[in-house]
Amino acid sequence: MNRVVPIPFVDLKAQYVRLKTEIDAAITAVLEHGRFILGPEVAEFERRLAAHCGAAHAVSCANGTDALQIALMAEEIGPGDAVFVPSFTFTATAEVVLLLGATPVFCDVDGTDYNLDVADLERRVAEIHREGRLKPRAVIAVDLFGLPADYTALNDLAARERLFLLADAAQSFGAAANGVKVGKLAPVTATSFFPAKPLGCYGDGGALLTDDDERAANYRSIRVHGQGGGKYEIARIGLNSRLDTLQAALLLPKLAIFDDEIAARERLAAHYDTGLAGLVVLPGRRAGRQSAWAQYTIQLDERDRVAAALQAQGIPTAVYYPRPMHLQSAYAAHGTGPGSLPVSERLSARVLSLPMHPYLDDTGAERVCAAVRAACGN
Ligand SMILES: *Cc1c(COP(=O)(O)O)cnc(C)c1O
Repeated sequence: MNRVVPIPFVDLKAQYVRLKTEIDAAITAVLEHGRFILGPEVAEFERRLAAHCGAAHAVSCANGTDALQIALMAEEIGPGDAVFVPSFTFTATAEVVLLLGATPVFCDVDGTDYNLDVADLERRVAEIHREGRLKPRAVIAVDLFGLPADYTALNDLAARERLFLLADAAQSFGAAANGVKVGKLAPVTATSFFPAKPLGCYGDGGALLTDDDERAANYRSIRVHGQGGGKYEIARIGLNSRLDTLQAALLLPKLAIFDDEIAARERLAAHYDTGLAGLVVLPGRRAGRQSAWAQYTIQLDERDRVAAALQAQGIPTAVYYPRPMHLQSAYAAHGTGPGSLPVSERLSARVLSLPMHPYLDDTGAERVCAAVRAACGN
């Protein structure tokens, strides 16, 4: 048998090879000037990040989870408040709600685009109103796998119900809806620069994007211990949550090629769409919405058998996510039990993410498609 060369699931090395000169120079420059905390590269990166998506302000912080938490802290969300979140997401989306003493209310998602089912969200908001125990305060919409949620409907619902709408764009920075980029689709957007995200650094990092001057000023205060006018003037309770200067420095050259990388991800997604049509359930596309393709996620029966067959061919896959949040033991007190969010439950048993990165060429894409075809018996 031929020795199979594994295909990387995410290829950070190929990107480094492309940017080595710029990244090495950026890191060296920081080592030379020595301003490791909130150095000049941080402000420069924030300017470029805001410009990239068209937001008035970008405020960087230590990671995407903190970005979500800072946004909720600035709204003074806490005990007695209900925050609506999709169950089919990464734990961080719900975790920050409980860290602030508020209550997560899990909602179901759409079975084809994996994002919040706005009709289900609406029913649960009405239910919380009816029960009268909690005050509906906020919605965290997740752009799962890179596709923006339905912000037209979400902004409308948020305005009607006076809810704070926060976009969890950890997977979708670089995406857009009707020509408007993620960062401008909700009043506040949180994103992550975890290495495997579409725009990743070499460690942890995150940012908040908003057009609101007052919110941006509050975020800047909260990320430095709630600092007021002077360094030792404490206006509020905050966090220690800054983006390292080193990470900002190496994100600058990565941001410069980011649009090109998103285009390469789109080409790979189109290749998969063609190669896998009729064989598995393809990721749902939505008119006018462009994904950042953090993941290319299909649905199929016998997911685990197909994953094992691909692995044997040197093709890694991943399951995001094998268990929805409402069935996790950590959220048991707020879970609604098996059967309560049927779409999230069905997806967690059927989804499989294929290798997705800008450096996977047509030959590699074809190898993945052929392996899925073979494993599915076609
Ligand atoms: C990665 C991720 C986060 C958290 O980002 P970190 O930078 O790892 O803290 C939050 N929400 C979603 C949907 C994510 O995928």
